[in-house]
Amino acid sequence: MPSLNRDVIIIGTGPAGLGAAFHLTEQDPSLSILMIDREKICSGGLLNDCKQNYTYPIGFSAENWTKDEAERLLPLVENRLRPVIKEKQNLTVYQRRAERVGVSLLDVRQSHVGTDKSRLLIQRLVDELKSRGVSFALEQEAADVFDDDTGTGVAVSGAKRERARKVIVAPGRKGFSFLQQVMERLGISYMDNTVDVGIRVETTVDNYPIVNDYYDPKFFFPDGVRTFCTNSGHARVVLEHYQGFSLVNGHAFSTARAGNNLANFALLKTIGLKDPIRSGQQMAVFLARLANDIGGGKPLMQRVGDFRMGKRSSTATFNDDLYAFPPSCPVTAGDLGLAVPSRIMRHLWAALKKLDSIVPGVLHPSTIMYYPEIKMYANKPDFLDRHFRVTKNVYMVGDGAGTSRGITGAWASGIRAAEGILQEN
Ligand SMILES: Cc1cc2nc3c(=O)[nH]c(=O)nc-3n(C[C@H](O)[C@H](O)[C@H](O)COP(=O)(O)OP(=O)(O)OC[C@H]3O[C@@H](n4cnc5c(N)ncnc54)[C@H](O)[C@@H]3O)c2cc1C
Repeated sequence: MPSLNRDVIIIGTGPAGLGAAFHLTEQDPSLSILMIDREKICSGGLLNDCKQNYTYPIGFSAENWTKDEAERLLPLVENRLRPVIKEKQNLTVYQRRAERVGVSLLDVRQSHVGTDKSRLLIQRLVDELKSRGVSFALEQEAADVFDDDTGTGVAVSGAKRERARKVIVAPGRKGFSFLQQVMERLGISYMDNTVDVGIRVETTVDNYPIVNDYYDPKFFFPDGVRTFCTNSGHARVVLEHYQGFSLVNGHAFSTARAGNNLANFALLKTIGLKDPIRSGQQMAVFLARLANDIGGGKPLMQRVGDFRMGKRSSTATFNDDLYAFPPSCPVTAGDLGLAVPSRIMRHLWAALKKLDSIVPGVLHPSTIMYYPEIKMYANKPDFLDRHFRVTKNVYMVGDGAGTSRGITGAWASGIRAAEGILQEN
């Protein structure tokens, strides 16, 4: 990678970084831009099944976004990603049922690409940026960011220094520690007081038929519980590996793949930690390690039938005749009650019971609950302006900096940082 002075260096080629790069090149084609990513393929969350939500507040953090601001930028995101919006049916029927039990069901404009097709989308986006003159440095890890008397830029692993007028840092959730380290070095104060803790529910499409009418239904329950990231068609629960523990997640292939008649979704409870303020990250790691320790190094899974009877699931009972489908992600059969803090479990279970009266069937004894699914994305810096500037020449955006919680919000955050840079030109 030649060491040149650039106009802008962007760390991270996820949607936040790409959103910034597209907006910068559209508005000022003369800018020289370098995008750095530690992965081999230009990646980030777009590489997963890539559901896109085009309705506020899905994917946006309320403290950084007003509805008007999100709605101003979402059409720009849509222009680039060119989603095919999914039709919904029977929405008012489900909404009426939900209202009766104190739950709301949001009407969200959505599209779904599918894990098997998302690489094609990424390739199209990267090719387009390359044709506009953007350089990519893949498999290069940013080790630090500097913005001082010596200049502005990024120290890349191997101690090389890349200089630029402006730096956009968009390392996503997995860049949590990197971001924290950069903020500490640059003297930026930040807050890490929110964490989402929950389970991934897996059942058959027959037991959760709403997915035939609404691809990723967004239910909001009392006590800060919500459904998130619903997958169906050819859907699988998957593991995300971190240092010392694994979390569960879910994805689905495109409709080009034959279906497996399974659906999965996350049920998450948002926890805001108050005085004395503790770290959401620390809490997430503690809970995840506990669950993985109890699971012998893996997450836990339990059938609803066993949970209801207050007994653990075991490998022997897991494939009983009532249990019509095998888990798509066989982890350790056990007892969630041992690992999930009781207040969290109570609120999740109350939400599931309400959901079962809106979509009868979801609490069939065969339904599987996997734990832990935890979202630890926000290292929220103190921003200096509405463009997510944190020092004179450095901007922090995307899920890692807590300005978004999804692909479209991350892309829009990148645009906001780009607008800030363009204003200064
Ligand atoms: C399994 C899974 C499925 C998901 N499905 C969906 C979905 O369907 N719809 C949705 O809206 N959201 C989904 N999400 C969430 C979504 O991926 C994120 O909201 C979004 O990608 C955040 O964008 P970002 O640009 O902030 O970060 P990311 O997309 O995570 O991109 C960050 C990039 O920075 C790179 N990076 C990190 N640290 C460094 C470093 N030090 N040096 C160089 N590069 C670095 C990473 O390699 C990565 O490519 C999913 C997430 C997961 C994990």
